[in-house]
Amino acid sequence: MTIVDDSPSVVTLPEIAPTRHVQPPTGEREPLKVSVFERMSKSNAQLMPIFPYDDAGTMVPCGAVLYGGEDRFHGHFFHWNTVSELLVAWGSSDAMIATGSLMATQPFHGVNSFLRDEKKEGAFALVTITQRQSSDAGQKEALTAKCEKCKKDIIKYEYDSAPQGAPDFDPTAFGDADDEFRQFSTQWGGVEFVKQRNSDEVRTCQHCGHENYLFDLKAWGWDRLVNQTKVSNAAFHALKNSAKEVLG
Ligand SMILES: [Zn+2]
Repeated sequence: MTIVDDSPSVVTLPEIAPTRHVQPPTGEREPLKVSVFERMSKSNAQLMPIFPYDDAGTMVPCGAVLYGGEDRFHGHFFHWNTVSELLVAWGSSDAMIATGSLMATQPFHGVNSFLRDEKKEGAFALVTITQRQSSDAGQKEALTAKCEKCKKDIIKYEYDSAPQGAPDFDPTAFGDADDEFRQFSTQWGGVEFVKQRNSDEVRTCQHCGHENYLFDLKAWGWDRLVNQTKVSNAAFHALKNSAKEVLG
């Protein structure tokens, strides 16, 4: 019996794709861990970033706690964002989004309470919406309101929202250049949007003449968050200046 060894004397290994490495941390953003439930129990506004990082390339999970009640009124608006958003429902009841569900939103999407009936006591949704900050120029967003009667746009408020580190970042876009704690663009934009949206000129529809309702910031709290961020910056500088005077 003859055994023929026909295997090649030189074994050629298949080309191996280069291994993908997760870059080690740069030290710029210290790893932090929070409970979304604990953090949102103390939040003061919808879409509150739950970590202090929002510069170019970061993923920014923002929490929202929506709940129903006799006096609750959320209104309706549309949000347009050039960066992707992913919604996670951490817990809900009588809401349009089930507990544990994920939703990748369209770049232009409607926003309301996400509850089946915002007047119902006990209806709630605790969600995060995570957006990925752009490293390239051109990050923008817009808030739009439509006439409740004829459904045509009554206002589209568009603005640049380039994060720190992006080539078109403007440190004075949402606050002062020396701010230690940055405003988050969506709340800042929300406040500006509502100011214009609620003017008599804008909320009276140019198309059909319908007088649209006043958008109530109470359930959203963006003005509260923007003002508290302003105060936090002012307080930080007050202490720094005081320390300079005392310590020389
Ligand atoms: Zn109209």
